[in-house]
Amino acid sequence: MEQQNQKSAMDEEECQVCRITYSIYSNFPPMPSAMALNAETGEWFPFDRLKSYSNGYDMAEALGYAWACHCRGRSRNRFDQRFTLTDSGGNALPNTYYTAELPSGALVHGITDLQGRTKRYQTHGARSIHVFIGHREA
Ligand SMILES: [Zn+2]
Repeated sequence: MEQQNQKSAMDEEECQVCRITYSIYSNFPPMPSAMALNAETGEWFPFDRLKSYSNGYDMAEALGYAWACHCRGRSRNRFDQRFTLTDSGGNALPNTYYTAELPSGALVHGITDLQGRTKRYQTHGARSIHVFIGHREA
């Protein structure tokens, strides 16, 4: 039941690539001996595996053209990170000057909001960001 809700919510945000991919492959009859090709890696895999995916994005990914997706490809690899700065007692530190070290090594400065939160930083993939309290130069 829960999965049903998730799926319908996802469908609304799906781009044409995902929608069309899903409508094509979800309607295929079972083909136990057929193989499908991942255009990106050149690897073959059982065609019926496509039908086991619950959405077009996973299908497109398996087929190697998920890069054409506009709805998930980007957001999936983009990680939004935000931190709450606290003191050693766990109390949020509002209006506090901080330095964030991005995965690239770049240092950005900011001031926490009233809840002690930093700005959101987007990283490609699950990379770590280090946050220091105070000013810090490379
Ligand atoms: Zn998509």
